[in-house]
Amino acid sequence: MINIVIFGAPGSGKGTQSDKLIEHYHLFHISTGDVLRDHMRRGTELGMVAKEYIDQGQLVPDDLIIDLLAQVLDENKENTTQGVIFDGYPRTIPQAEALEGMLAERGTQVDAVVGLEVPDEELIKRIVLRGEQSGRADDNEDTARKRIEVYYEQTSPLKAYYQEQGKYLAINGMGTIDGIFELIQHELDNI
Ligand code: AMP
Repeated sequence: MINIVIFGAPGSGKGTQSDKLIEHYHLFHISTGDVLRDHMRRGTELGMVAKEYIDQGQLVPDDLIIDLLAQVLDENKENTTQGVIFDGYPRTIPQAEALEGMLAERGTQVDAVVGLEVPDEELIKRIVLRGEQSGRADDNEDTARKRIEVYYEQTSPLKAYYQEQGKYLAINGMGTIDGIFELIQHELDNI
């Protein structure tokens, strides 16, 4: 069993590399962004609250996200036995602490944090392109800039948090999808 956090700014390739990791290591994928978008599509109460934050490029409050993650883990006990890839979670220190608690209750832990490192201007380019292709409302240039600002303010401190635990694997996120995946595999094979 291996639990991996895929970490990086919006547009750094977390979703793309998650797909490769799932295929290769047979992990269960949890993307809090995908779960929230599903709630928005279904028009649930959580979806309506989340939309207010997502449209502004802001993070959804920790208490809502932590409850949501606990629920997803509870609902997928059988699916998570091989391990989980956490994509887009944690995004704050309190979220990371909550994750540690939830995993400890299950007798497990975060094993590695794959940090995809990509320059800001490339992030914007990728997000705008993804928005054109997918129609995702928060993938426009203004919201992308806000999301990157929020990333630096609230999420990037997690890099030091996981470095202190010796779990952070820095990956150069510029290159081809397969080339980047090879770097990730190489790092994961050494843990
Ligand atoms: P993502 O698909 O991971 O880029 O997430 C899209 C948006 O959903 C983010 O910009 C946040 O508004 C919200 N979101 C997703 N995951 C989280 C999280 N762990 N904490 C707070 N907000 C989140």
